Amino acid sequence: MTGGITLSVKVLMGKKGFEEFATIVGFTEAEKEERGALLEQSYMPFKVTRYYAELIASQSEPYRTQMINIVLPPPGVKPYKGRFDPYGNKSYRQDETAFLQHKYKKTLLLHIDDFCIANCQFCYKVNEIRHEDIGYTNIMDKAERAVQYLEAHPYIDNVLFTGGDPASFRKTSDLIKLISTLLSVKSIRLVRFATKALAYDPARFLDGELLAFFDQVRQTPGKQVSVISQFNHPGEISDVSIQATQALLSVGVQIRGQPAIIRGVNDSVETLIDLQRKFLDNRIISYYLTVFMPVRGVEQYAIPLDEAFRNVAESKRNLGGLEKKGVLLTSHDFGKLEICGFYPTAERPEKIVLKWHQAVGPDYLPERLKELIPTRSEDLMILDYKQGEMYCLDHVFEHNGLPYVNADGEIVENLPSEAVR
Ligand code: SF4
Repeated sequence: MTGGITLSVKVLMGKKGFEEFATIVGFTEAEKEERGALLEQSYMPFKVTRYYAELIASQSEPYRTQMINIVLPPPGVKPYKGRFDPYGNKSYRQDETAFLQHKYKKTLLLHIDDFCIANCQFCYKVNEIRHEDIGYTNIMDKAERAVQYLEAHPYIDNVLFTGGDPASFRKTSDLIKLISTLLSVKSIRLVRFATKALAYDPARFLDGELLAFFDQVRQTPGKQVSVISQFNHPGEISDVSIQATQALLSVGVQIRGQPAIIRGVNDSVETLIDLQRKFLDNRIISYYLTVFMPVRGVEQYAIPLDEAFRNVAESKRNLGGLEKKGVLLTSHDFGKLEICGFYPTAERPEKIVLKWHQAVGPDYLPERLKELIPTRSEDLMILDYKQGEMYCLDHVFEHNGLPYVNADGEIVENLPSEAVR
């Protein structure tokens, strides 16, 4: 039991949990001391399942260290000061319905809990998840408010519920009630949720009652459930994960992969190739690859956009057509931008070529931004770029005179630049 939440899987937390983890993965005293000191600098509390710790211990190098780097911050240079909330979650929350977000026209985001089964140290929701014990609420109160909102906005056709990771620890009966309530809205065609449980507690998705419910949804025309797996590393796709993935697929649940690209975890070409291959082998659809966001306290995870692009591009040169479909993105308060390429070449990047995968609704974008650059998905932007110095969209926008968000989370209007096309 943790913070009023019951988990069937054993979770290692706090100082005692860290000690147990260190023993399971076989840290030397020096490693333990170094990792412990780095953890102090992170805002994300330590937490991992025992299952995942043992999975790490079973890996050989470099996978063992790469997976440890998910659970504990790695050593490394912090090239800039990151920020809390680098995806603008807090700022988009409306006062009276703080758990509903309507950033993108067709999608309603429903925040259920701030609790996650994993506390990935690079998590962009660190500011919400670190206060996870606060605000555990009745799932159906939120579902009913969401239904009211959906009925008032019938052009929304899909719901993404999130947290945290409610699907990993909410009771099956609650989860079924939540999903069926959302799907009962006439205009809703799809309910999706992201979960780290396929990596941290895959047995959760072998629950017969839950699978039977998904099977019923499959037989309902025009309605479906999709799971976004939070696999970030090929070592996470264990035999039990594969069993859970197959069980979900067998009852019509689509599964997608959207790994973040993170220094020390999966930024190497070999790891990226293996991860994308494993997606195809296990019928997981490659969806996004998102470059690490500028999270406060663990900036050593950051990777320059050009380097991430080159590594992903090289990995894709070694993959077949269907397995290289993941879109490389950089996400931001203003939306998701696809990194299309660099000019004149990725090895000598003087300009970055971007296009919106999806910008947030116009009400949420700074006026100057809309004046200076296109916000439609079909238009390209060619912006000045400094090789090896730009780790996120804020760096690119600031350099090009566009509005950006500073380390304190404030929007800076910035000055016009002739570099903007
Ligand atoms: S699984 Fe996602 S929400 Fe949970 S801690 Fe990791 S990055 Fe954050």
